[in-house]
Amino acid sequence: MAGRNESTPLPNLPGYTFGEKLGAGSYGTVYKARLTPIVQTRPSSAISTRPIFYAIKCISRKALTKTTPDILINEIKLLKHIKHDNIVEMYDFSWDENYIYIVMEYCAGGDMSMFIRSRQQLSEARARPFVQQIARVLKFLYEKKLSHMDLKPENILLTSIDKPILKIADFGVAQYIGRRGSTSIRGTLLYMAPEILSSLPYDNRVDLWSVGVILYECLFGRPPFVCSSVDELIGEIKSNIPIDIPNDTRISSECRDLLEGLLQRDPNKRISFKDFFRHPFIFIDLSSQISRADEFLHKSINYEQSGNFKKALDYRVRALDEYVAIIKVDDDDNRRHQLRSKVKQGLVAAEALKRRMRETHSNSASTVPTTTTTAAAAPPENFDLNHNKELSDAYQHCLNGNQLMGVLRYGQACEEYQIGLSVMLRARRTETDPMKSKILHDVISFYLSKAELCKNKNEAQQLDINMAKIQEDSVLDNTMLDESNVNTEKKSTSQQNCCLQ
Ligand code: ADP
Repeated sequence: MAGRNESTPLPNLPGYTFGEKLGAGSYGTVYKARLTPIVQTRPSSAISTRPIFYAIKCISRKALTKTTPDILINEIKLLKHIKHDNIVEMYDFSWDENYIYIVMEYCAGGDMSMFIRSRQQLSEARARPFVQQIARVLKFLYEKKLSHMDLKPENILLTSIDKPILKIADFGVAQYIGRRGSTSIRGTLLYMAPEILSSLPYDNRVDLWSVGVILYECLFGRPPFVCSSVDELIGEIKSNIPIDIPNDTRISSECRDLLEGLLQRDPNKRISFKDFFRHPFIFIDLSSQISRADEFLHKSINYEQSGNFKKALDYRVRALDEYVAIIKVDDDDNRRHQLRSKVKQGLVAAEALKRRMRETHSNSASTVPTTTTTAAAAPPENFDLNHNKELSDAYQHCLNGNQLMGVLRYGQACEEYQIGLSVMLRARRTETDPMKSKILHDVISFYLSKAELCKNKNEAQQLDINMAKIQEDSVLDNTMLDESNVNTEKKSTSQQNCCLQ
């Protein structure tokens, strides 16, 4: 156990029965504990409303270094003054000759790093409510001119696995800096903003950088810097090369825009707190997010009325996506109930739109003269590339596209066709030999029609995936906020040891 040697007795705090070890941090060991049942002679409302389980951080006094008391005092002082639904609550603190004890609310879902690791990476829809909850805490801290300074998945706890509400912990190195500036080095390197490593003053925008690293890790399953040594990591953080956002995982343009904004090395180019709070991926103010979803819905209705079912469906799905995202973070019970029924009705309407869109599509296909539906002829078997390496590679991309189409990977197939076709189109523009130009024309026409078909299939596939996701999410719509959970967490604190006023 961190901070306990052979001669130190086990932690013991009157009133609590210690259970399993939950984890060990840099300054102590955290145990699960429960209130020791007391024989009651008369009913006590104060005791009955207290939670049953607690997490108690035990810091061995023998192991205290010169700096740990400051860190502890800092954490205790801060937690005493900050109360927020997404910040781990501190109930009591106490000490005996061996330990200092911090009694906190117990988070049964482990921490966010375990959550990400067990799933390898999170979908954008799963990551979004997490980042929205972090944003709520940042807004709260921002208004108090406070900076957490050590935001990382290990310091973000979850109330449960099934219905995780996120709770930010470990305010040991948090400080009041606002925009005033600080120069001390605090936090964890991997999530540390570049300006902290410079000798220049930095401000609370360092937390925005850490949120960027956390979001990156959620989406791609690894932080932006993967290094084998601390020196290499410091070099990477301090370098001037812009952070590369991978293309191999599909993310929305809003999510990408936010990531790029957060992961700006220069704090003056980084997204500002105000823009972060009102960014469409975040929308701290849920009413703006609702207006946007309603706007999508209206567009969908207008398109449906004008007979454009494809666009109508697209906007309907976007609206549903937003409503589901709101449900996950909204703590207004009534609004959540209303939105849930809106999503249920919306899914039925979307299914109907999908059917109408497909009907219209097959009707129009059957009325088009066969000469145009047969599109271009297949490319000649002996498509002579005349040892032209560029063309030969381009053709290979088209063949890859065929293979990917065969295994229903339409998105990737589209990309392959696009690469191949762009090279062939360029080659045809400069081809002077009429024979070769004609062959290229045939091949291009053939693959253009294949690419078009592939694009349609890809859109239909994406739509099915999105709708299945919305359906799944709407079943688990209270994954992030569960009424019973929220209510039991509004606890009363009957301090037995030091009172935290
Ligand atoms: P330190 O501040 O000493 O680094 P932490 O506060 O990070 O320690 O706690 C260490 C570990 O203990 C965390 O990673 C987490 O797994 C577990 N833990 C801490 N607080 C709680 C809590 N309130 N509920 C459940 N587990 C917790």
